[in-house]
Amino acid sequence: MKSIPMLDLKLEYEYMKENINQAIQKCLDHQQWILGPEVKELETKIAAYIGVKNCIGVSSGTEALLLSLRALAIKLRGQEYFDRTDEIVTTPFTFTATGDAILRSGATPVFVDIDATTFNIDSSHIREYIVSQKNEGRLSVVGIIPVHLYGRSCDMDAIMKIAEENGLFVIEDTAQAFGGTWKGRRLGSIGTTGSFSFFPSKNLGGFGDGGMVSTNDDSIAEILRMLLKHGGKDKYNVDHIGYNARLDTLQAAVLLAKLKYVDDFNKRRKKIAKIYHRELSGIDPLVLPFSSNESEEAHVYHQFTLRVKNEKRSELQKYLMENGVSSMIYYPLCLHAMKVFKDRCKNVGLLNNSEQTAKEVLSIPIEPLMATSTVMEVTAAIKRFFSQ
Ligand SMILES: *Cc1c(COP(=O)(O)O)cnc(C)c1O
Repeated sequence: MKSIPMLDLKLEYEYMKENINQAIQKCLDHQQWILGPEVKELETKIAAYIGVKNCIGVSSGTEALLLSLRALAIKLRGQEYFDRTDEIVTTPFTFTATGDAILRSGATPVFVDIDATTFNIDSSHIREYIVSQKNEGRLSVVGIIPVHLYGRSCDMDAIMKIAEENGLFVIEDTAQAFGGTWKGRRLGSIGTTGSFSFFPSKNLGGFGDGGMVSTNDDSIAEILRMLLKHGGKDKYNVDHIGYNARLDTLQAAVLLAKLKYVDDFNKRRKKIAKIYHRELSGIDPLVLPFSSNESEEAHVYHQFTLRVKNEKRSELQKYLMENGVSSMIYYPLCLHAMKVFKDRCKNVGLLNNSEQTAKEVLSIPIEPLMATSTVMEVTAAIKRFFSQ
């Protein structure tokens, strides 16, 4: 039986084949594999696209987060790592990398509950936590990492206001939201830095790992360029504890070829989301992603994620699988419940929304090149399940 995949990278490659093959051939011809001309070109193009002064290519989205944090520790604190007493506020309902980068930077992740309608961090809880610390006469929080989950922007007005009032940095985890916006501004251009992932399944994905940091702060950009090359401007005489975390020339070449398609593909994602909204509304145990005219314009639907109430999720997933429809759970477990974080994080309150959400979410196929008839096959299968 043929099955409908979450994403069809072979189909996408066929669609862009000529452009991609040419880009790769250019690399084969010039043989400049490390920080070749494509890396600079991609950095320049994405900086212009997002509307920031600097973009710095790195080896993955995870390293983009970690290197941002390390650069901030060096710039703001004059030390290589943060201290365990330094707290960084983020969401527990995200990919592991967000929290893992905080641990590796030396700081302590502080998990704050999400808003159940948007799946994103609830800024009112960030404010409450900071107020409670200040009432005790201390402020251990140094920064915030909002995650634009599934391609939807966090409330950046509220988050930037809290940050500015309290002297905190903001790293936008934009791994799932390339091309997304908040009130007309591109995500990744609003915080102190933005971090991007080019993991193959992301809205702009390479043929392997890759990532990028965006920032308007030249001094952070300068430190980042050192960290990704062993920690110095001169790799034979280094200043900082560094990494080998460069973006591959070959990945940059593929990404440059694919960048031309990203706006069109994001539009196609929105179109599929619109069909899902139309076809799946009013089915009782399903909650569709929050939608309004304004939010639809800004949302880039990295995932189309349903909430399945009444503990029907695993039955629905099984039924879909038997009927040739893929689906995925992003994410089955909150970060604060994982072994690695348990004794190394702080939780603000009970994180009930996050825990409930982890039990209910189910993402369904959203391949930009998917035919409308295929989208309708997905909705038909879901409707059949709920009408039996
Ligand atoms: C994918 C992802 C990352 C990590 O990116 P990699 O390129 O896989 O290292 C970080 N945060 C979020 C929210 C992600 O979805």
